[in-house]
Amino acid sequence: MTFILNEDLIDYNLKKKINIYKIITIAIVLIISIILIKFKPAYAVTLGEEEIGYIGNRTEFQEEIDNNILNTNKENIAFVALDNVSYSFEFVDRSLINEEKVMDKVKENAQNIYFVYEVSSGNDENAVYVNSLEEAKSLVETLKKNYSEVEDDLKITTLYLENQISEEEIKEAKAKISQSLDAKLEEKKQRDKRTVNGIYLASLPLTGGTISSRYGSVEGVRDHVHGGLDLAASYGTPIKAVADGVVKTAGKTGGYGNLVVIDHGNGVETYYGHCSSINVTVGTEVKAGETIAKVGSTGNSTGNHLHFEIRINGSSVNPQKYIY
Ligand SMILES: [Zn+2]
Repeated sequence: MTFILNEDLIDYNLKKKINIYKIITIAIVLIISIILIKFKPAYAVTLGEEEIGYIGNRTEFQEEIDNNILNTNKENIAFVALDNVSYSFEFVDRSLINEEKVMDKVKENAQNIYFVYEVSSGNDENAVYVNSLEEAKSLVETLKKNYSEVEDDLKITTLYLENQISEEEIKEAKAKISQSLDAKLEEKKQRDKRTVNGIYLASLPLTGGTISSRYGSVEGVRDHVHGGLDLAASYGTPIKAVADGVVKTAGKTGGYGNLVVIDHGNGVETYYGHCSSINVTVGTEVKAGETIAKVGSTGNSTGNHLHFEIRINGSSVNPQKYIY
């Protein structure tokens, strides 16, 4: 009897236990179901330092970044700058997963970096920036062709910029460099014109003054062909050295009156005659534009003027070939 009773008791306890397990299992299943309905395995996406949202499929998401954002074939893009994208696995509320929104944030962060080409030269401070190497090369060719006399150091530098250069900016820069090189060309022409046997006449012998007798004329009191250029100016007007040199003569002479002769080297000498006074002595080193004497009417002269003469290896040449 006791035995049977005991067996019943065991059976009863077992059944009770099994029921508890069933309830627990059902409860767990219910809880998991609820969790799975509301939550989903996902990836939190971090861009740089900032978490920007949740996505479901990491592989697809990264492929889209690689193919559509980073691997662009757009012309002249050097590369795309993008902060580091990282993923971490999480269970999140389904409603938080929004791949489109996260992708938009990645797109916003992506910065195209363009190739920009700088055309510049050592002879000019202006530079032109263009968007393609072909355009840069063509510009160099044009500038070389048009400005070969003043431009020999053109170079192309590749730069990486966040923006391309607008047509308007290119046009403006081209105009600016052309203008600048035109001015240099003109300056060089002037300089070449004012260069006597390699000696550049940086200064005029007088400020103001008017031509009263030209080189080669035979007129008035003269019994010989005029070997210089006469510049009428008021008494005391400063007379300037036309180029750097060393004073060779400084003093009273016959026909020239008070005369200064400057030796500029290369066989080039300049004469300044009829001076009222002289500021230099033989051996004085003078700079172009430096006052060496003052206008007067000494020697064979009928009025205040400067007799200016240029000689190359002892022979006078027409000063107006170089100045005035
Ligand atoms: Zn004269």
